[in-house]
Amino acid sequence: MNQTKYIFVTGGVTSSLGKGIIAASLAKLLQARGYRTTIQKFDPYINVDPGTLNPYEHGECYVTDDGAETDLDLGHYERFLNVPTSQANNVTTGRVYLSVIEKERRGEFLGKTVQVVPHITNEIKERMQLLGKSGDYDIVITEIGGTVGDIESLPYIESVRQLIWELGENNGIVIHLTLVPYLAAAGELKTKPTQHSVKTLMESGIKADILVCRTEHELSQDLRQKLALFCNVKKEAVIQSIDASTIYEVPNLMLEEGLDRVALKKLDLPEKNTPDLTNWNEFLFRLKNPKHEVNIGLVGKYVELQDSYKSILEAFIHAGAANETKVNVISIHSEYLDANSAESQLKDLDGILVAPGFGGRGIEGKIDTVRYARENNIPFFGICLGMQMAVIEYSRNILGYADANSTEMNESTAHPVINLMEEQKNIENKGGTMRLGVWKCSIKENTLAQKIYGKTEIMERHRHRYEFNGAYLNELEKAGLVASGVNPDTKLVEIVEIPTHPFFIGVQYHPEYKSTVANPHPLFVSFVAAAVQHKNK
Ligand code: GLN
Repeated sequence: MNQTKYIFVTGGVTSSLGKGIIAASLAKLLQARGYRTTIQKFDPYINVDPGTLNPYEHGECYVTDDGAETDLDLGHYERFLNVPTSQANNVTTGRVYLSVIEKERRGEFLGKTVQVVPHITNEIKERMQLLGKSGDYDIVITEIGGTVGDIESLPYIESVRQLIWELGENNGIVIHLTLVPYLAAAGELKTKPTQHSVKTLMESGIKADILVCRTEHELSQDLRQKLALFCNVKKEAVIQSIDASTIYEVPNLMLEEGLDRVALKKLDLPEKNTPDLTNWNEFLFRLKNPKHEVNIGLVGKYVELQDSYKSILEAFIHAGAANETKVNVISIHSEYLDANSAESQLKDLDGILVAPGFGGRGIEGKIDTVRYARENNIPFFGICLGMQMAVIEYSRNILGYADANSTEMNESTAHPVINLMEEQKNIENKGGTMRLGVWKCSIKENTLAQKIYGKTEIMERHRHRYEFNGAYLNELEKAGLVASGVNPDTKLVEIVEIPTHPFFIGVQYHPEYKSTVANPHPLFVSFVAAAVQHKNK
């Protein structure tokens, strides 16, 4: 196939309808039919990337192999497709403008007035086709962030219009995701918001080819007919997306509704084989028929917003299914936990995860948590800041350095067991300057880490500025905290563990970003297994 086909997903009526899940589910079906499919997301905000955003804003910042700090929807794409994404899969308005303005400064526009149309829209169109032109994909799905009608989305909508015009109708289609609300007082589903939303899209010159309607109740045939007539689509192109018990159910729901077939027809592509979802459905079966149940505490400071730890929560779903175990993740606010309340908050847990994070808020609660898990033999898993807290806890309570700390929290501590990485010392800009993306880690033989991974060379994704201070390595190892994984080139400590504890491991990287339905992450799988064991004891 030579012409890459483009599917654009826009959203109407409200935000948070789950465009990312619909895009990922459709991609999953197309992939299962034998099409090489990728998904990219265009976000209308002005931050160059979400790396500088507080998790309370848009949830977790997801990190790709190539070190891009991206929207969390890219995590869904990878978890569903099991194909890595990259910097090219996430573009923001900030990135678009930055690049256009840099071109202007280099004089590339040859004296022209630089304008939204055509310069910004050209830049957007170019980026929309970047992955398509690589030759690696038959179909590129592009999710447009935000809701149609938003001022900030306009350049994207205009770019989609132009691009479809340029590519020809059968090479680019638009799926519009809307909400069909249920009015309890009237006992009715309402189509008007969808009609208006489609109209708004039309004002920008775009006709929706397919409507995906989020709903809490089944759409009747009459209602589908009505939506089709008033929104100017075929009846078969009115797709119901009813609330599901898990996002992993959505590909099957979309298959039943025929979303993939309607899309292929519109794109003039053959259906090929029926999607083979055998492995996917086995995963779903295990997920829905657990034999065990464990309670795992997630100790962090952004717990009010579930999306802040999206990839961790999803990794537990994958690992739970792998262990035929229902994992109840219990959010615990580290700011409201201290040495006195640790026992009452943590004693009934089968496993404790201390979450990643930045800054000093809530860290003493994290340190008290580590201590409780260590002293009470509760399976412990620390990620990034969580691993750093484990090092601090050990230094304070085993080595006896009461003031041990990270220089992130206390620059003048006499025992900086976690300190700023050398290469970070001259960095002033905050955006995109952490140690990012995949780096190698060599694992020591006969350690828990080696047992978990089953190998001694791994690649994991990072996002941090501070590191284990090598000056304390000998002392800590002698006292029983083993550095079981290090970067082979820089010797930076990547994994710590306590061999005398049933399961105690901290990692400087983020394993959660690499967990997918097809490949649940071994650290999460082993951690859940350890929690099951702990519970059965
Ligand atoms: N704040 C710590 C650092 O920068 C940990 C980062 C994280 O948890 N992602 O090293």
